[in-house]
Amino acid sequence: MANNCRSQAQGILLGLACGDALGRSVEFQRPDRIKRRHGRVTEMLANGTHGQPAGTITDDTEMALCIARSLAEHGAFEPEDIATRFVDWKRSGPFDIGIMTSSALQRIQNGESWDEAGQREWEASMEGSNAGNGSLMRCAPYAIAYRNEPTELVEVSRQSSAITHADPRCQWSCALFNRTLANLLTDVDQPLERVLNEIGSELPGDVRNAVEPVTDARRGEPVDISLENSGYVVTTLQAGLYHGLTAETAEDAIVDAVMMGGDTDTIGAVAGAVTGARFGEDALPERWVTEIDEVEELRQLATSLIERRQ
Ligand SMILES: [Mg+2]
Repeated sequence: MANNCRSQAQGILLGLACGDALGRSVEFQRPDRIKRRHGRVTEMLANGTHGQPAGTITDDTEMALCIARSLAEHGAFEPEDIATRFVDWKRSGPFDIGIMTSSALQRIQNGESWDEAGQREWEASMEGSNAGNGSLMRCAPYAIAYRNEPTELVEVSRQSSAITHADPRCQWSCALFNRTLANLLTDVDQPLERVLNEIGSELPGDVRNAVEPVTDARRGEPVDISLENSGYVVTTLQAGLYHGLTAETAEDAIVDAVMMGGDTDTIGAVAGAVTGARFGEDALPERWVTEIDEVEELRQLATSLIERRQ
């Protein structure tokens, strides 16, 4: 059981990194173009979008690393420390950073507090560009550390989102996603269905409506999960949960997510975390894992977060 939990926790962080790195080379491309050029994207590709070596992770995994390192060091959610780590990372000049993330972190850099910056950035943003997936993509480490504390997990997931993404759809997508991961880690049957039963009434309607078809798909009913994946948190959540919870293998979950096109690294990362929690790290293709430079640190951090509280 303990070994199993460790493998699943490592699966979350390594699955996230695998999906991020696999999707990176085809980010922003339409699915028909990806298919025409690559067939199925089953190998880590060099160059492509962002022109990086094969196996390069992006902001999704880098920001998740900021959170995981802070949790491992402090043993609890320290939002100010996490905001500082985000700002330091932004200052390092990453090749990929979301617009809302960049603007909110700039506010913190300019002296606004972590709990004001995201809120003000959100109030200054228009509908249509105010609910991106930039906090969902990085939030999985909380699910490991707070897997046995469901109320706290919702609270820290929402607050961590609000550092850069204060929209209720973003905050609640992180909460629902992490509660689903925590259920997978603790071997709860019907992990997503249970979350919907427990906090469904608190979710914004758009989030609930997007996730309910995933439960239909899990019962074997045909559903249409082919929305354009432009980076809207609700469609990313839907696609990530759908592939993560319904694919028969970890490889299929991540490849199918990336083949949807659009924001492929983040859809891949979200699906990867779910499938990693479901099947454990051994289920991730070895040829992908060995391409990722940060694998050892990700493994160690997953173990530290598991041991944080039993
Ligand atoms: Mg990215």
